[in-house]
Amino acid sequence: MKPFFFTSLSLRSRFLLAMGIVFIPLVVVAVGSSIFLGHAANTLNRIVEQPVYKLQTTSRLQNQIRKSYVLVKDHVLTPRYALRTQFESEAQGVEAVVAEMLEKPFFGAQEQSLLANVRREWKDSVVLANVIFSSDASRAALYQLDQRVNQIMFTLDRMYDTYYTEINMLRADINASEKRFLLIISAAVGIGLLIAVVGAVWLARSVLMPLREFEKGVAHFANEDLSYRLTLNNHDEIGHLAMEFNTMAERLLAHRQKLEELSVRDGLTGLYNRRELEKRLQEEVQRARRYRRPLSVMMLDIDHFKNVNDRYGHQAGDEVLITVADLIQLNVRPVDAVCRYGGEELAVILPETEEEGVRIVAERIRATVEDSITTTPQGDMVHVTVSIGLAIFPGHGDTAAALIQAADQALYTAKHEGRNLVRSL
Ligand code: GH3
Ligand code: MG
Ligand code: MG
Repeated sequence: MKPFFFTSLSLRSRFLLAMGIVFIPLVVVAVGSSIFLGHAANTLNRIVEQPVYKLQTTSRLQNQIRKSYVLVKDHVLTPRYALRTQFESEAQGVEAVVAEMLEKPFFGAQEQSLLANVRREWKDSVVLANVIFSSDASRAALYQLDQRVNQIMFTLDRMYDTYYTEINMLRADINASEKRFLLIISAAVGIGLLIAVVGAVWLARSVLMPLREFEKGVAHFANEDLSYRLTLNNHDEIGHLAMEFNTMAERLLAHRQKLEELSVRDGLTGLYNRRELEKRLQEEVQRARRYRRPLSVMMLDIDHFKNVNDRYGHQAGDEVLITVADLIQLNVRPVDAVCRYGGEELAVILPETEEEGVRIVAERIRATVEDSITTTPQGDMVHVTVSIGLAIFPGHGDTAAALIQAADQALYTAKHEGRNLVRSL
């Protein structure tokens, strides 16, 4: 059986199939054995009926002959007329039994001829008996009658023995059949149970194995590992559920990434926010300290930004802020982190950058902003400049806070000295 077969069935069909597997063999055994038993009982009756009939009638015939013969003997001892009439009636009884037997079609040719023989002998016996009943000199006749009756009885005894043996043989046959039948029934029940067990195990496995996979998936989820995907190829309800599970994981992962992104970014400019700046700066300071690597920080502030808002409106101010943020991004490396420190104050962390390098970058930014113009949605052309303060690790500060403070102080100097300038301590 291909593994396809297990998983392509729906759970519903699988349960029904398993029930069928469990019950059908048992029903087949029950129905089969009842049909077989009925059939066997009929056959048995038919088979046993005939020999039993033969045995019984043979015995009846012998009794009838004995009864008749005793009357003759009684007459010899004490002659009475009544005995003769009684004998005639009993002798007719003998004839009637023989006639009844000969009528039956199931007596074979050999039995028919034996019975015909008995009938003939009995007729002769009746003649002899009548002689005895009618004369007194009956000794010789009685002897002859005795001989004949013995002969008849001998024949009938032989017939009786044959039937008795036949019945015994049949009984042995029936016993053997019964044993065979019991064996077949036991085998059928055994096979039925085996199939039932196999069916149950198959059903349990086909449900429990995917469930185990689910358990694994849920455990990964519980450990916040949203990247785990269920690898179930079932085409049933469980497979469907697994697909839904994977889709859900996909969506949750995307949402989480989005949330993570939102939590570190500023909504207006898309730059890192102040919290992210502080976190990153601390990491960079630790790294620079541990590996003795250079690190610089830049603090920027838009000059007279309040005027922009006052003249062109707050929305135009926002546009200018976005433009300046973009210009800074374009002038730094991908490893540099540009952040919105607050208001129109921006900061840049520049790892692996010495004083000379940061000064060049800062000057480039200052010049680029000075040379650029922002067109507002209202069509106004706004021109701004930025003042920049620099701080270099570890000369201007060997902690994140100290570096920020130093850069801020340098920015203050730049403002103080006339704005649109780059300064450091
Ligand atoms: P200075 O050259 O001394 O920096 O002058 P300034 O006017 O820029 O200084 P100040 O700190 O007094 O003003 C900053 C202004 O920036 C105040 C505030 O209205 C404006 N501002 C801060 N954040 C935003 C913002 O997100 N959008 C807009 N449009 N304006 C902002
Ligand atoms: Mg300002
Ligand atoms: Mg300011």
